[in-house]
Amino acid sequence: MIRILPPEIVAQIAAGEVVNRPASVIKELVENSIDAGAREIRVEVADGGKRLMRVADDGCGIPTDEVELAFQRHATSKLASAEDLLRIQTLGFRGEALASIAAVSRVTCATRAAEEEIGTLIRLEGGKVVSRRPLGRPVGTTVTVEDIFYNVPARRKFLRSSATERHHIDAWVTRYAMVYSDRRFVLVHDGRETLRSPGTGRMRDVLVAVYGGEVGSALMEILPEENESIQVAGFTSPPHLHRADRGAITLFVNGRWVQDARLTYAVIQAYHTLIPAGRYPLAVITITLPPEDVDVNVHPAKAEVRFRDGEGVFRAVQRAVRRALTEERGISAIRTFPGPAFVHSPEARFPERATGAPFRPVPMPGVSPPPSPDGLPVLRVIGQVAATYIIAEGPDGLYLIDQHAAHERVLYERLMAQRESGIPLQPLLEPVAVDLPPEWAGLVEAHQETLRRLGIEVEPFGGNTFLVRALPAVLRSAHPGEVLVEAARGLAEGSSPPEEWGIATKEEMEKAIIRQVCKEGAIKAGQVLSREEMEELLRALEGCASPRTCPHGRPTMIHISTAQLAREFQRR
Ligand code: ADP
Ligand code: MG
Repeated sequence: MIRILPPEIVAQIAAGEVVNRPASVIKELVENSIDAGAREIRVEVADGGKRLMRVADDGCGIPTDEVELAFQRHATSKLASAEDLLRIQTLGFRGEALASIAAVSRVTCATRAAEEEIGTLIRLEGGKVVSRRPLGRPVGTTVTVEDIFYNVPARRKFLRSSATERHHIDAWVTRYAMVYSDRRFVLVHDGRETLRSPGTGRMRDVLVAVYGGEVGSALMEILPEENESIQVAGFTSPPHLHRADRGAITLFVNGRWVQDARLTYAVIQAYHTLIPAGRYPLAVITITLPPEDVDVNVHPAKAEVRFRDGEGVFRAVQRAVRRALTEERGISAIRTFPGPAFVHSPEARFPERATGAPFRPVPMPGVSPPPSPDGLPVLRVIGQVAATYIIAEGPDGLYLIDQHAAHERVLYERLMAQRESGIPLQPLLEPVAVDLPPEWAGLVEAHQETLRRLGIEVEPFGGNTFLVRALPAVLRSAHPGEVLVEAARGLAEGSSPPEEWGIATKEEMEKAIIRQVCKEGAIKAGQVLSREEMEELLRALEGCASPRTCPHGRPTMIHISTAQLAREFQRR
């Protein structure tokens, strides 16, 4: 039998689109406080939000005669016409949150509008007003939500442990605190304050409050480029800081948090080969573009947006992150000369390293390459272990360097740099013949020109056999046949990249080839090195832009600080 559903059920179903767990209540209430122009937003939670959530603000408040209206569906002060939808400047606009929250919980709202003498206290249960009276209070709004889903048992059952729900709440409050850094956020769980952001308007201050001083001060700032219609700003991690998942990549579009796999990937890809494979950067990125170029009305929880020019936004994000990653080095050279602004020098960024030990001098602009933010201090060779690792001492403790990975990094950066101006060749005295598997033979034949550009001269010799005639000079001690095999492997890899890279680019293909041949050309594990060889390798590694990982993303070194050694030996 077909029936029209009673209004309470309709309301509960609709509420489910906006409110699916305690954190979504917090999100909506905090958004309302931000829209109300609050300077301080205080969030209190009991039992991961299952028992109680309260968001208090000092925003504009709700006028007495509009309080009931605010709790009605499709009631909003933020949108007047369909045209307004095209240029939404507020976080809310659907007029659904308060109605949805009230439909599935017990809500108390205490508010006073800026222009009124007296405020209002109203209480609703399951969406119905159960009491209302005038209330004296400061300007602002406090919404308290108790017993979420008390009247929707099917939903209540799906609530997770308090710890899990709390984790989701923390994620929301943290995001908003970072991006709305000009407001003070206070978060209290079960009576204990767990976060207080200073409200200074500087995102870095919030990052320090959230991630601690060490991480917070190491993050690199992304400064927006002038005169771009797509403005990208925020902070992103230096290559030595990374995480096991993508969860620490936060994206905001026009002040709104978004989940966007492609933009997240734009950030990750900017770190390609700089951080270990399977590890992810930490980043908070805000994208600002004209409101008419982005549609925010795609998703009830408003977590998805659609761009008029998605490709353009992707490129802008990737460019901005790359700029932060590479420019840091450039900036240090310019700013340290002649003024005293040492902000970007390694000593200032890593004060714990500046313990009177020798650093490479800060070079003058145009004289030699500036040190990378991730640069190495001067290392003193102590010896070799297992014919595989170099032991060295630095200004702050002990370094173990994987000789193969380190040499791969050195060769990779040399070849990548030489590629710009032409890679110097080393002709072989006698050509070397190599048989390739048929599927690679075709690729090598088709890409002879690419290989020649990269310093590998090959010539088809009938069937699947090729003659290697010359190699890049930096690989002179490698086995020519093996170099060709690895180049072919790189070609195969670069011409069918992982799906998330999208189509194969010439750039990616060349990089894949260079990575593979460097692996072949690098010193092997198990090779005994003389002190001079070890020193030469470390000097070369110090000159690398990204000395801490090999081109495949594995670490080249392990650092054990003096403090760590003291701890291990229980000296304090
Ligand atoms: P929306 O935010 O989409 O407009 P909501 O249901 O979240 O819808 O809120 C309805 C209305 O209630 C808002 O448009 C606003 O006028 C008012 N309101 C809600 N929360 C606050 C607040 N904290 N301070 C001032 N006004 C508020
Ligand atoms: Mg709202």
